[in-house]
Amino acid sequence: MPRYVIIGGGPAGIAAAEAIRRNDLGAELRLVCDDPDGYYSRPGLAYFLTGEIPEEMLYPFNEQDLRKLGIYMLRGRAIRVDTAARRVELQDGSLVAYDRLLIATGAQAAPSKIPGSDLEGVVKLDCLVDAKHILKLARKARYAVVIGGGITALEIVEGLRARGVKTHYFLRGDRYWSNVLDETEAKIIEHRLKEEGVILHYNTETEEIFGKNGRVAGVRTKDGRQISCDLVAVAIGIRPRLELAVRSGIETDRGILVNEYMETSAPGIYAAGDVAQVYDPFTGKSVLDSLWGPAREQGTAAGMNMSGKRTPYLKEVAFNVTRLANLTTTIIGTVGQGNDPDLLGIARGDSETWRQLPDAIAAQANFDVNRLRLLVGSKTLLGALLMGDQTLSQAVQQLVAKRVDITSIRDQLLDPKAPLAEIITNFYIEWKRDHVHAQQP
Ligand SMILES: Cc1cc2nc3c(=O)[nH]c(=O)nc-3n(C[C@H](O)[C@H](O)[C@H](O)COP(=O)(O)OP(=O)(O)OC[C@H]3O[C@@H](n4cnc5c(N)ncnc54)[C@H](O)[C@@H]3O)c2cc1C
Repeated sequence: MPRYVIIGGGPAGIAAAEAIRRNDLGAELRLVCDDPDGYYSRPGLAYFLTGEIPEEMLYPFNEQDLRKLGIYMLRGRAIRVDTAARRVELQDGSLVAYDRLLIATGAQAAPSKIPGSDLEGVVKLDCLVDAKHILKLARKARYAVVIGGGITALEIVEGLRARGVKTHYFLRGDRYWSNVLDETEAKIIEHRLKEEGVILHYNTETEEIFGKNGRVAGVRTKDGRQISCDLVAVAIGIRPRLELAVRSGIETDRGILVNEYMETSAPGIYAAGDVAQVYDPFTGKSVLDSLWGPAREQGTAAGMNMSGKRTPYLKEVAFNVTRLANLTTTIIGTVGQGNDPDLLGIARGDSETWRQLPDAIAAQANFDVNRLRLLVGSKTLLGALLMGDQTLSQAVQQLVAKRVDITSIRDQLLDPKAPLAEIITNFYIEWKRDHVHAQQP
């Protein structure tokens, strides 16, 4: 009977354990995890920071659920895999033998290289321990500076504002999340942040974080300004946790390279989730995601393959429903291009595929804070972004994901005065009817 070992207790690791257990009821299943809080919702940390949900609500599973899966939990860090002897070495020196191994070690914040980043009061947001640390500091802090981009930087800004901390937000360029949002969307978000009392600083780079008695006292910008603060948060993107794979001679690029069966270059070893770089059939490239849904799907595929059910992972169009400055925002498919000066690579709740936009024309409609932007390709919708009103979210998601031929409405969509919502609604209703009809025996 094969011995299964999973490194990482996030959604990829847990989904893999569930799949293995479905196929192999009696197998020995061990899970190694170095997060003292185990399995919980990382996207939920934003709501924990603002105080909208208590800690208990972060946990999708309780101890009993884990017991039902028959997982033997090992708290600790895996530091090396001996791929020849098929053994994992833990930091405390113990060895765990495996026949099939999954590496699902996730990602962590890209380290800040700003001088002074080692001072007490410089924070990041990767895990529950970090969120609690931010909350502890926020209790005493009067002023904070947040540096970076993407969803996590904004979540920290909003968490701090909700806790009554006066917050400065530094952007290196002239707008927020410039390679995913367009100018109008960025302006909507920035306007709302300003209304909430956030002090935005455009074209601002940090020269140094300075301190007093080992604690943050303020930041100096490259253009010579000095801002006093008690807390500095840095969210400049993430890095897959590759150390273990690199040390063990497993092939990596930006993430651990896997084929469509989630197999790495080492026999019997699989990878899934934020740490894996997976093949994307839509773009023909091998990409990174930092999204809960894909992490679970990849974990499931890995678990199936590990337990003998050959199952390819078919990457779907990446999408995320998130909240930016209190506005629900859905991002689907490819919506942007280029580099964002506030981020090194991708951020949390992000996908590399969102910014691989080939030639496409944007059709857009907006009213106040409700906005719909469609990226119209030659025959299909390549992506979409919905802000505020989410009525069309599911319809648009299906049209993008299923690469539905929109030739019949393409010219209408591109008319600048087009009632986009109406055109899409009517088209979707018709497509759905034909689609369901075509699927009936
Ligand atoms: C603040 C924040 C906001 C987010 N917002 C969104 C969002 O809006 N939408 C969305 O879809 N996604 C969001 N995400 C991303 C989402 O949470 C991740 O994509 C998902 O958790 C990835 O799952 P994973 O299992 O690959 O890795 P993780 O959830 O990171 O889990 C990895 C696990 O491996 C453990 N580990 C790592 N190395 C070792 C080792 N050597 N030994 C033992 N254990 C190890 C870690 O402790 C951790 O438990 C957000 C994440 C954060 C932190």
